[in-house]
Amino acid sequence: MSNVPVAVVTGSNKGIGLAIVRALCKQFPGDVYLTARDPGRGQAAVAKLQEEGLRALFHQLDIDDLQSIRALRDFLKEKYGGLNVLVNNAGIAFKVHDTTPFAVQAEVTLKTNFFGTRNVCTELLPLMKPYGRVVNVSSMVSSSALGGCSQELQKKFRSDTITEDELVQLMTKFVEDTKKSVHEKEGWPNTAYGVSKIGVTVLSRIQARMLNEKRKGDHILLNACCPGWVRTDMAGPQATKSPDEGAETPVYLALLPSDADAPHGQFVSNKTVRTW
Ligand code: NAP
Repeated sequence: MSNVPVAVVTGSNKGIGLAIVRALCKQFPGDVYLTARDPGRGQAAVAKLQEEGLRALFHQLDIDDLQSIRALRDFLKEKYGGLNVLVNNAGIAFKVHDTTPFAVQAEVTLKTNFFGTRNVCTELLPLMKPYGRVVNVSSMVSSSALGGCSQELQKKFRSDTITEDELVQLMTKFVEDTKKSVHEKEGWPNTAYGVSKIGVTVLSRIQARMLNEKRKGDHILLNACCPGWVRTDMAGPQATKSPDEGAETPVYLALLPSDADAPHGQFVSNKTVRTW
């Protein structure tokens, strides 16, 4: 078994994820895994970094596929005995003018952004080594979507005692409510992506609390963040930041020094803790 520190970035064959891998290859003292659901796209991205003189390793990972997540878990357990840095970056968004029915957009978006990310956490968080760092890439849209929720929902999403099961029930209810076209009446905002990212931010707050309760002495720091508005296939060419600039906050959180005890359980953008 290798004693080399190891970092994993989900959805990193392009966009912000690829830029996070690029920065970690330069700054992280260990093995950096670029992961992709499609091995061809993943290997092409590894080759691109190699042309830049950087050495990333590849492992397949589709966060929609529990078998794929578990295969990565078993690989990390066997080869490294755990994991030092996990960046949950993989995500999807329908384009604004996409005509796919809203209920389908809700189901598909929540499936990857919330349930997929949660499944990765369920399988990989138990592997985190002491002083590990976990970064869940959310979005400022989670904050604006929170503001668009009913007072009752806002209270639940800001609660310091909400459980993961309760959050899962709420995310499931959103999808069900869109199918019945009652989501607005039920207090939800009209954004599937926004609700999925509320889920990611709240999940991060819950997971940080659980780490405090169960693994306080391990000094693991876990945060959600927004990369900013970044020129990728998701956000388009008008966005203000380059992918490398978008990677800065996630990488800052992934490389928090071992003597840091904060931020933890926060929502961070531009390296600054934001009020949730
Ligand atoms: P992107 O260019 O579309 O890249 C998304 C990445 O996620 C791709 O590598 C994609 O793989 C991967 N992915 C999607 N579904 C996956 C799955 N089921 N399993 C594994 N990988 C999967 O988007 P981006 O702008 O870099 O976004 C990265 C993250 O930042 C997302 O979580 C996004 O919500 C968040 N974010 C972006 C912005 C922005 O302005 N760009 C702002 C706020 C937050 P494929 O190539 O196979 O599709």
